[in-house]
Amino acid sequence: MQIHIEPISKSRIDQVDFDQLAFGRSFADHMLVAEYANGAWQSVKIQPYGPLEYQPAMMSLHYGQSIFEGMKGYRGKDGSIQVFRPEENWKRFNKSAYRMCMPEVPEEIFLGGLRELLKLDQAWVPAKEGCSLYIRPFMFATDEYVGVTPSTTYKFIIFNCPVGSYYSKPLRVRVETEYIRAAKGGVGFAKNAGNYGGSLFATQNANKDGYDQIIWTDAATHQYVEEAGTMNLMFVINGALVTAATGDTILDGVTRKSVMQIAQDWGMEVQERQLAVKELIEGIQNGSVTEAFGAGTAAVIAPIATIGFEGKDYDLPERKDSDFSVRVYNEINQIRLGEISDTRNWVWKV
Ligand SMILES: *Cc1c(COP(=O)(O)O)cnc(C)c1O
Repeated sequence: MQIHIEPISKSRIDQVDFDQLAFGRSFADHMLVAEYANGAWQSVKIQPYGPLEYQPAMMSLHYGQSIFEGMKGYRGKDGSIQVFRPEENWKRFNKSAYRMCMPEVPEEIFLGGLRELLKLDQAWVPAKEGCSLYIRPFMFATDEYVGVTPSTTYKFIIFNCPVGSYYSKPLRVRVETEYIRAAKGGVGFAKNAGNYGGSLFATQNANKDGYDQIIWTDAATHQYVEEAGTMNLMFVINGALVTAATGDTILDGVTRKSVMQIAQDWGMEVQERQLAVKELIEGIQNGSVTEAFGAGTAAVIAPIATIGFEGKDYDLPERKDSDFSVRVYNEINQIRLGEISDTRNWVWKV
């Protein structure tokens, strides 16, 4: 498929302070825009990042056919541009699309288009330690129609944000036992926009009570832990890595998958299973739960310091350099930057 390129006349890169990058507030010069109509992808363009015009009756605004992905590009030690496992994001994007009755995006548009876009916007990939280019592919329904039915036209867009190092101080999280993120038979496994809108209220309530994030529990009983905000949730219990198995309600995270693979390669036991809140709290109290952390592209690993449950706070042990979560973060970081050899073939070169 031919990609039509309309380059910017003047880069905006001088206006961005690369020493003070807030997450998701700066946008690279170009974006990729592909249009779907009449049962096929019609055109793929790379054009200056900027506003698009739509009708008030655009269906995605009303009925939520809107999905996205998130991955990161890095500047390797040798200056080359590379992306961490984007094929996994492409596959997951198409699973989300299928569930939301949207067309699949072919590899040549998703990954082929990304390659061309990154070639043009290379200068926007920060070189500074800990910084990266956050890549945001998304697709939404564009029919002008008031009616609940799948749209017949869609736009697929990719834009990029240079982002700073995402230092997250160990989090205070609260176990949520009233609101839910996902239920069996629902769309929790898909990265569709509505999941995130629906999660805001519970998170806002937790923020008011002094917690950074919430731990979602299962919709039916609220007895089992599922995810931490928009990250997968992982624990080290009696030396084993424990995380919820994927299914309708768990997002199949690329970071989660990578952490599990490294743990296995290091000879650590990995358990994908239900974890009861009760077992978790007892485990923190008796010392068998030694680490708790979120796993996701933005922070990679977000350590958890405190878990609140039924009005009481339970503290995890202080973090040490020998912790699994610290070592696995360093391993992933070194693979991404090309500092150690990529034996698992995770790095995708532009
Ligand atoms: C994106 C996301 C994750 C993490 O997935 P990664 O592929 O590791 O970035 C976890 N949970 C939810 C709900 C998410 O949306």
